[in-house]
Amino acid sequence: FGQNSNRHTSVKKVLKLMGSRFEITVVAPNEEIAYVNIDEAVMEIKRIEKLISSWDLDSETSEINRFAGIRPVKVSPEVFALIERSMKIAEITSGAFDITYASMDKIWRFDGSMNRFPTEEEVKLSIVKVGHEKIKLNAKASTVFLPERGMKIGFGAIGKGYAADKAKELLVKKEVLGGVINAGGDLTTWGTKETKERWTVGITNPLDKEKVFSWLPVVESSVATSGNYERFFHYEGKKYTHIIDPRTGYPTTGTRSVTVFAKKAELCDALATAVFVMGRDSGIHMVNQLDGVEVVVIDDDNKVHKSSGIIFNKTEEMN
Ligand code: ADP
Ligand code: MG
Ligand code: MG
Repeated sequence: FGQNSNRHTSVKKVLKLMGSRFEITVVAPNEEIAYVNIDEAVMEIKRIEKLISSWDLDSETSEINRFAGIRPVKVSPEVFALIERSMKIAEITSGAFDITYASMDKIWRFDGSMNRFPTEEEVKLSIVKVGHEKIKLNAKASTVFLPERGMKIGFGAIGKGYAADKAKELLVKKEVLGGVINAGGDLTTWGTKETKERWTVGITNPLDKEKVFSWLPVVESSVATSGNYERFFHYEGKKYTHIIDPRTGYPTTGTRSVTVFAKKAELCDALATAVFVMGRDSGIHMVNQLDGVEVVVIDDDNKVHKSSGIIFNKTEEMN
């Protein structure tokens, strides 16, 4: 129809999935195809949500938790592998990222329903249930066993990254030319924009969510940000984030935001949470030892710190 066949269009859809704001952008020959592709991505994300959500009582996660201290639970190869990778990340991060943090989620709630600070006793009682090394995996039988009653796992700090990777994988397989799956701040890209330019990702200014403090190019890779400005509660003038230090049982302090760059969104997601827990210095030190991973940390004094491979123009304090 006289249309230049080299010209592509890009379509972006914003929707709520996995309890977060997702933005799915695809580059396609025309709008109709773009919307079909977006629907395919959405279906894939919904499939994963059903599989791993802690809110869905029929999910495999809920079943594993329900049988804690009772018996092993047979899971899909997909969930089994996700747990294996989660345990590996727990090792790399000395337990700063730990899916068994979830036994603490009865006492720390970030949905606005907290009306008092937990007692020391309550924290002590919950934290004895935390420990990724306690999880019993049986690869042959594809079972997962949480050996103590009250133990619990949750994929809150890795699941969105995983979903982004899987949605991308699906669209790449369908030869979608380019796109961005932004899963509530955990995002992955492939290909280029319809203009053939590179995708760029803005790091949010934690002091003003509407502002970007730096733009960075992202080529065939992923970015995730954990910030203290999304989910938190205030108590006696202090701000507490939704990220729990599995070693102390208390919410992490000292950091405003952590942005991790790597090939997979899953790893970015998990490591952003881990660096938040580990704190600026040990977090950056750990990332400097990993191949293909970079990090930008904004601390409580609004100072920007970065791993050795990050190059950008603005490294001063923000205002
Ligand atoms: P976001 O949800 O904004 O992407 P994160 O990726 O950092 O932020 O995930 C935070 C969520 O992960 C929390 O809401 C909680 O469900 C879970 N979580 C909290 N602390 C930890 C931890 N130390 N290790 C693993 N998961 C955690
Ligand atoms: Mg995370
Ligand atoms: Mg996340």
